[in-house]
Amino acid sequence: MSTVTWSFPTTIVFGVGAVAALPDHVKRVGAKRPLVVCDAGVVKAGIADRVTKVLEAAGLRSVVFDRVDPNPVEQNVFDGVAAYQAHKADCVVSVGGGSPLDTGKLIALKTTHERPLADYDDATGGDRFIGSNVPPTINVPTTAGTGSEVGRSGVVTLAATGRKTVIFSPHLLAKAAILDPELTRTMPPRVTAATGFDALTHCLEAYCSLGDHPMADAIAIGGLELCAKSLARAVEAGDDLVARGDMMKAAMMGAVAFQKGLGACHSLAHPLSSEKGLHHGLSNALCLPAVVEFNEAVVADRLDRVRRILDANAKTCSAALRALRQRIGLPDGLGKEGVTKADVPKLADKAAEDACHRSNPRPTTRDDLAKLYEASL
Ligand SMILES: [Zn+2]
Repeated sequence: MSTVTWSFPTTIVFGVGAVAALPDHVKRVGAKRPLVVCDAGVVKAGIADRVTKVLEAAGLRSVVFDRVDPNPVEQNVFDGVAAYQAHKADCVVSVGGGSPLDTGKLIALKTTHERPLADYDDATGGDRFIGSNVPPTINVPTTAGTGSEVGRSGVVTLAATGRKTVIFSPHLLAKAAILDPELTRTMPPRVTAATGFDALTHCLEAYCSLGDHPMADAIAIGGLELCAKSLARAVEAGDDLVARGDMMKAAMMGAVAFQKGLGACHSLAHPLSSEKGLHHGLSNALCLPAVVEFNEAVVADRLDRVRRILDANAKTCSAALRALRQRIGLPDGLGKEGVTKADVPKLADKAAEDACHRSNPRPTTRDDLAKLYEASL
């Protein structure tokens, strides 16, 4: 029997109005001058203002850094480090979706780590250069999908290679994640649907992935139950803070669960974003049913359990997924999003290079990935 490691360390504060607890956690980590990292959308929604007011009221002087691109580039990190130093900041409070949360981790890293970002690339074992002297970060998500708030990696596109690079280290884990459903209330239905499907995909792929991780499995199942209960409701009734809260929990649980691994769907999704500009969660929604059918032969019992959670009356897990996708207003194929058969060879080459399919329960070749794209058109 082999040895495995299980770890779930982040402090999570959950509840409507939980953002009021932010100053306590800034103080708990010994900080006084937060840099608030967000993007233009968070500022426009008035959420950056709300966060800085909460901090000011507790005597904590913060400044806002909002120059984070939807797909963060290394210049965003450098500009953020300059803002951190100019403010003489002592912690990072990241507010937003996956992009600001990822960028906040990397800004914190680069304030104390001198090497070029490329040296920290997880693909080349860069985590060995990352020490414990990263300043504290606190994450305040405003979407419910990526689960980056409890993750230990940041993704950034490097100027030299133009590649999305993953930087991973336990020292990038936030000291706290503040989950306030109120902050997701204004998310439009289509974004709620697509990001929610990302959370669902994390739970499903983690539950079915290779590896022995009963804790991740149980959390994945819990996340799937919340998606089954509340994804459609959050899309259809955005003001329902119970449904919004359930989806925040599901997103966070999905990211905790995928410590175990993901699967072929995420390998298909990544090139759809980088090559075709598709939203990540939407890409997963469009590819997941075909992946589930491909995996049916090797994880039939697990997929049947997922089917029963999603819809006990559905004939198959993939049928339940397609019905849910339709109900929440997402399209039924990649073709609707402008992807054609001619795109498949290049997409399949890129998907084969992606690491996620290595933990898919059924071994997946480049040709399998091409067939899965075609089945998802
Ligand atoms: Zn994802």
